[in-house]
Amino acid sequence: MSSSPTVHALPPAILRADSLPSLPAVALEVLRLTAEEGTTLDDLAEAISRDPALSAKLLKLSNSSLFSMSHEVSTLQKATMVLGMKSVMLMALSFSLADVVPKDSDGGPFDYEDYWHRSIIGAVAGRSLAIYAGKSELADEAFLCGLLANFGGLVMSECLPVDYAGVLDASAGNWPTTEVEDQLMGFNQSDVVMALLESWNIPPLLAKAVGYMQRPQKLPRGLSEDIRELTAIMTLTALTTRVMCDKDKGRHLRILQKWGGSKYSMTREGIDEFLHGLETGVAETADMLQINLPDTDHEDIIRDAREHLLAISLGQAVDLRTTKAANVELEHKATTDKLSGLPNRAALDDKLKTEVQSRLNRKKPLLLGVIMIDIDHFKIFNDTKGHAAGDVIIKRVGDAITEALRPGDFVARYGGEEFTIVMPLTTREGIAALAERVRARIEALKCHHEGESINVTISLGCASLEQATSQLDGERLIRLADKKLYEAKEAGRNQVCF
Ligand code: GH3
Ligand code: MG
Ligand code: MG
Repeated sequence: MSSSPTVHALPPAILRADSLPSLPAVALEVLRLTAEEGTTLDDLAEAISRDPALSAKLLKLSNSSLFSMSHEVSTLQKATMVLGMKSVMLMALSFSLADVVPKDSDGGPFDYEDYWHRSIIGAVAGRSLAIYAGKSELADEAFLCGLLANFGGLVMSECLPVDYAGVLDASAGNWPTTEVEDQLMGFNQSDVVMALLESWNIPPLLAKAVGYMQRPQKLPRGLSEDIRELTAIMTLTALTTRVMCDKDKGRHLRILQKWGGSKYSMTREGIDEFLHGLETGVAETADMLQINLPDTDHEDIIRDAREHLLAISLGQAVDLRTTKAANVELEHKATTDKLSGLPNRAALDDKLKTEVQSRLNRKKPLLLGVIMIDIDHFKIFNDTKGHAAGDVIIKRVGDAITEALRPGDFVARYGGEEFTIVMPLTTREGIAALAERVRARIEALKCHHEGESINVTISLGCASLEQATSQLDGERLIRLADKKLYEAKEAGRNQVCF
């Protein structure tokens, strides 16, 4: 076998391992015949017959419910004729590749029984889904892909048992996802299996479908229609295996229902029936491969999955509500000033952005008003009466400004002892009138602190925007109002400048 140029795509940690599986001789021979032009059915039958165990498995398979032959197939020659060359090649490959995998656990954390259960369900489900999808010409490919679907995880576990034990641990009884593997090991089972199959010269249709079935969104563009079809069938197959074997059944059943519905118009009942229907094929295939499966009843598994899905739907309704409440609270925290309880600077920026944007989209101009407010000689209060007194004044002034506003007006604590009012629906007179109302209100205000009554005044600068022309108009308005505020301070404080 010539070495493929893609072999280097195997992660170095895997390449270095001495437990990397190699292909059995009969699989190599079948692959060689597949690649060779002019191979006859007799060539193939002869190659297979050199492996009596494989021959027996193929004969058994030909007579199983998977192929539903009308007559008993009694010789390998007959089997190759009845099944066709491609089917026999793929099945011979399936069974000889299956021989690479140990049948029993070695006491380590990798569960071989579970691995085999998944592989056999994958093979039978893949075949059945291909036929359901009207792609029976891909049925044998789907069988082999299903059988190999989890091979990458097995190889990772064999080659790097200590690291992979961490992945298995993090997966808590579910088959590891490529995301968890990427996170903990820097590469994943899909990359490994694809690179390994390519290094074995397994046809790209099979290598790609196995490599992308668990992450179809990453399938490169421009690949053949067959690869895309088989990958889609195998993605449903991977979900099927997860429904049947993962702990987290309900979640996968929901995705299977969604995908099966949109891709192949499968109804929920149709999916239940399909899952039930796998049972015979799974038992037969396990028997052919001489594998003991866990004692499970499909009926029970499907009921479990449905109940789990229901629990998730109910739980999620609750979750959504709590998440929504939590989000509202987070949003409130992020946009509210703690001391005054008013919107903060970030909220002011948002408000201005929204108002300016809505004006940029408008045909008719709509005046936007801004008032900047700064407490006069505030430092003196802090210095003579203490910081706590300063805080009380900030809070009281904030409240008083809020009480003076009309509906639709907005006030934020700009920072320190400064506030900003935004008036989205107003006139120049309206701005001036509100500014004066606020000024007078604060002048009349008595702030009580530790039995003392403190008088405060503020200075105000006003600005208005007739017609918005740029996203930056909000900041420009603030600068204009701030300039006017400075003028009010210069002119003696406790006054409005416009
Ligand atoms: P002017 O009339 O020119 O505005 O005089 P001023 O004393 O108010 O001058 P300035 O704006 O420089 O002083 C603001 C002071 O406000 C300075 C800072 O220590 C104080 N300050 C800012 N934030 C807070 C706060 O949250 N609590 C208290 N107590 N003081 C604050
Ligand atoms: Mg200031
Ligand atoms: Mg001040």
